[in-house]
Amino acid sequence: MSLIMPEPNKKTLSRRLEIVAALRAIVPGEGVIDKPAELTPYESDGLTAYRQPPMVVVLPETTEQVAAIMKYCQRENVKIVPRGSGTSLSGGALPLADAVLLGMSKLNRILNVDYEDRLVVAQPGVTNLAITRAVEAEGFYYAPDPSSQIACSIGGNVAENSGGVHCLKYGLTTNNVLGVELVTMAGEVLRIGSRALDSAGLDLLGVIVGSEGLLGVVTEVTVRILPKPETARALLIGFPAVEAAGRCVADVIAAGIIPAGMEMMDRQAIHAAEAFVNVGYPLDVEALLIVELDGPAAECDHLIDEVAAIATKSQATTLRMSRNEDERLAFWAGRKAAFPAVGRLSPDYFCMDGTIPRRRLPEVLQKMALLSRKYGLEVANVFHAGDGNLHPLILYDGNKPGQLDQAEAFGSDILRLCVEVGGVLTGEHGVGVEKRDLMPVMFSPVDLAHQQRLKCAFDPASLLNPGKVFPTLHRCAELGRMHVHQGKTLFPELPRF
Ligand SMILES: Cc1cc2nc3c(=O)[nH]c(=O)nc-3n(C[C@H](O)[C@H](O)[C@H](O)COP(=O)(O)OP(=O)(O)OC[C@H]3O[C@@H](n4cnc5c(N)ncnc54)[C@H](O)[C@@H]3O)c2cc1C
Repeated sequence: MSLIMPEPNKKTLSRRLEIVAALRAIVPGEGVIDKPAELTPYESDGLTAYRQPPMVVVLPETTEQVAAIMKYCQRENVKIVPRGSGTSLSGGALPLADAVLLGMSKLNRILNVDYEDRLVVAQPGVTNLAITRAVEAEGFYYAPDPSSQIACSIGGNVAENSGGVHCLKYGLTTNNVLGVELVTMAGEVLRIGSRALDSAGLDLLGVIVGSEGLLGVVTEVTVRILPKPETARALLIGFPAVEAAGRCVADVIAAGIIPAGMEMMDRQAIHAAEAFVNVGYPLDVEALLIVELDGPAAECDHLIDEVAAIATKSQATTLRMSRNEDERLAFWAGRKAAFPAVGRLSPDYFCMDGTIPRRRLPEVLQKMALLSRKYGLEVANVFHAGDGNLHPLILYDGNKPGQLDQAEAFGSDILRLCVEVGGVLTGEHGVGVEKRDLMPVMFSPVDLAHQQRLKCAFDPASLLNPGKVFPTLHRCAELGRMHVHQGKTLFPELPRF
């Protein structure tokens, strides 16, 4: 792989057997995996272009075991990579050759459901969908809904600040988490946030959500749950040009309407999805919008007419409104299957994730088409149009020499473009290793140094998930005296893990 990761510590590697034995003393039974063949399933996460078997996998079952493992690793200078379900698309859970992979999947119990306070307390290995499943009989649900919700863990959602279709109206993970239990690299157990809507002191919860396993390991999560909306209706709207669809999105928001979801697909994605699920998507359009409204029936009916009127003004050529639940689900079926559908078009694809101001959408898509020609690689676009979060899927064949490098370079150019038009490097998939080296495009050396100081406050020896998020992770002692002259660091070509 072309990715530069921290050099493995030879001393740690030479002590492997001793480290495995120490972990077995903390987690007895089958909770420690060290046979090479059994390590293979852990060698990558959802970003499968990069692979590295871990030194050893440990699967604790209690917070006490997590704390003991971390305390031991800190004392013995051993690195740790936390892992939930391994669905990260940015390589956040990519193992290191000299690190313990700390799998959280056995901490998988829902600890408390409180309908009066409208919250659920869950262990980090509980899947996102399992939270909704636990409360749906009483008419409640957990709002953030990543497409991976059947598999991804709530601990991973907290670490990535994950989003989904319904986050436009109901917020990302950060807006739905009330508190966490966190184990630091030193093995201390902290409680951050609470069961209440606000907490005193610094907003450490805001710091932990989205920290990508760099600051601590989440061992318990308290999330809020919402009553299921009385009704939901969707519109399927086709446009002859992407510009018209982009304008419609901006006009809906400008009219003060916040749909429960507003998703867009381009021609390539529409055709792939329709061929996969056959739900009657129009094939003569350049862009397709799915807009969902939810709430009391009267409000839904009123808003759906308003959105339809805006779409007509924006030159929509196809306009269908769902009349029942089956039709609504059919509108969504293609969008939900868009990733596997695009996966049938080529042996490999890279799913990029960047965010732009909504009004710049047409311009960004035009430039992306030029980049597609430059690199000779196709791109299909599926995105959360309402919040400007793009998911370009770059199609490539990893078996053809040079295509992975081309796809990586194409992806980097797309993310640079997002920043150039006033957007950001990531919408919901995190930085991980995928966008790590692009962080200086977005942040100045001073910005990055301050973020790293925060990392050092939690993990001074940089043992927790090193090589992720920060392009050049200085030793914490070094940070105090780093001299940056006119934005230039000494020897910028050297990775400083
Ligand atoms: C098909 C597909 C569709 C997807 N759709 C979406 C989508 O719509 N929206 C979206 O936001 N994401 C999406 N994702 C990305 C991914 O599912 C999310 O990032 C998810 O939150 C990762 O959860 P996980 O349990 O798999 O975490 P992992 O992949 O195991 O880990 C992700 C990161 O979290 C850290 N981590 C995991 N558990 C803990 C813990 N307990 N404490 C501290 N750090 C921890 C890891 O170190 C790593 O940095 C998709 C992925 C796939 C494969």
